[in-house]
Amino acid sequence: MEHKIKRIGVLTSGGDAPGMNAVVRAVVRTAMSRGVECIGIRRGYNGLIKGDFIRMDAGTVSHIIEKGGTVLYTARSEEFKTEEGQKKAVDTCRLLGLDGVIAIGGDGTFRGALALSRHGIPVVGIPATIDNDIGCSQYTIGFDTACNTAVYAIDMLRDTMQSHERCSVVEVMGRQAGYLALYVGIATGATAVLIPERSVDVERDVVEKIRQARLAGRTHFMVVVAEGAGSAMDISAKIHEATGLDPRVTVLGHIQRGGSPTSRDRETGTRMGYEAVQALMSGNGNCVIATKDGKIVNIDIEEALAMTKEFPMDRYDVLEAVTTNG
Ligand code: ATP
Repeated sequence: MEHKIKRIGVLTSGGDAPGMNAVVRAVVRTAMSRGVECIGIRRGYNGLIKGDFIRMDAGTVSHIIEKGGTVLYTARSEEFKTEEGQKKAVDTCRLLGLDGVIAIGGDGTFRGALALSRHGIPVVGIPATIDNDIGCSQYTIGFDTACNTAVYAIDMLRDTMQSHERCSVVEVMGRQAGYLALYVGIATGATAVLIPERSVDVERDVVEKIRQARLAGRTHFMVVVAEGAGSAMDISAKIHEATGLDPRVTVLGHIQRGGSPTSRDRETGTRMGYEAVQALMSGNGNCVIATKDGKIVNIDIEEALAMTKEFPMDRYDVLEAVTTNG
């Protein structure tokens, strides 16, 4: 059953991720198609506290689907974590006449959404982070683009490593999760990959793999390190100590957060934005839109925050199988 709503807000919060704009566009367009007005809240929850907003229409979201970053800007708001900050945010929602808010971001953003919903504002969360480290959703917006960016960078590095017969140690983002490193390691044919989900033994997981690759005739080696598994500089020093090689270190850093989103992030982001508006319209606020086995599902925020997902360790077996022979 459709719930009578006139106006909703949309914001992006926490770290930016490519594809956030596709979500914003889908929210605005879907709302418009249902006769619901959409207000863009700028700079995350800070925008709700300060009343920093922009009225969204077809023009404000045209040609943003292909853009990285977020046109609504993003921020982290310490003030919003306080009762006082949340009250100010609720006052802004009331003043603007918002019947609901769609919050795009990570787990922290969902904790903020839960706080707001406890103050009586229906909020729907959409998972967006390049780290893919959100328990309730198998996929998070931005992950595919970040993987592709890292793969592109490593392919370029490989050209020069191959020419000079060198070892390269590349540190990729991911915080405490190894999704990015593992997927990228498989996609680039890395000699070794270190992830935080597996205890790190440099001799076993890196040095021995480099030796096997050398014995199989390889003269260049690509080692991918998840930032949560250790520092590329330290790993490089250990490789040098054990083998005499002089590895070159590259920390990919924030370039992984930028760039035009891939079709997967645009398409999934668009479906999630659509479902978020549908959820608010059917009176189903206080939920997170997530993916499960390729489908878009709707999970209660509190449940979503308590969920954990199993790391796909079977992919590590795949990696090992295809790298053991060098
Ligand atoms: P990323 O995955 O990029 O870190 P995130 O959404 O997890 O994204 P956070 O900085 O953890 O990023 O959270 C974003 C914002 O959500 C915070 O700056 C704060 O405004 C709000 N927030 C986080 N935790 C809470 C909380 N417990 N109560 C209220 N608001 C919160």
